[in-house]
Amino acid sequence: MTEPSSNILTTSYEKIFNWARRSAIWPMQFGLACCAIEMMAVLDPRHDMSRFGAEVFRASPRQSDLMIVAGTVTEKMAPIVKKLWDQMPEPKWAIAMGACATCGGPYRTYAVTQGVDRVIPVDVYVPGCPPRPEALLWGLLHLQRKIDRMRLGDKAPQQSLPGLVVGASRR
Ligand code: SF4
Repeated sequence: MTEPSSNILTTSYEKIFNWARRSAIWPMQFGLACCAIEMMAVLDPRHDMSRFGAEVFRASPRQSDLMIVAGTVTEKMAPIVKKLWDQMPEPKWAIAMGACATCGGPYRTYAVTQGVDRVIPVDVYVPGCPPRPEALLWGLLHLQRKIDRMRLGDKAPQQSLPGLVVGASRR
């Protein structure tokens, strides 16, 4: 017979909430340009994003808590990205995937937003043109570490913690 005390774990609400949040991230199902192909590749059996609990891409912003901005954000598209972001419930996070989403990439033009952080707050930047799927997974791991540091009262963690730049393109 086991001791009653051996079945008891003590922890804090924060640790439990953060563990639950980082272990069941639901990304939003949308892509803007070529980087989206690499984003789709993280779901294939070789990269298998479900190992990190983040494979359930949702077709509605209301069911999503992660926006992966994968591709070129044009000035025409930026207000729509912002609208989708506003429709996502708190707490929510954003990853800028690739050079275009991070800073406009090769498109130094009036028609392209020079970084999606001009319209939404970004938690993690994944550089590259395009970043490989592994780089996106690396970005996801950094985001999970960031969620682990959240305080319960943080409604918008991206405002209290600085954005991270992770990974690098190997192409
Ligand atoms: S960063 Fe490169 S691969 Fe990604 S959307 Fe821009 S041009 Fe395409």
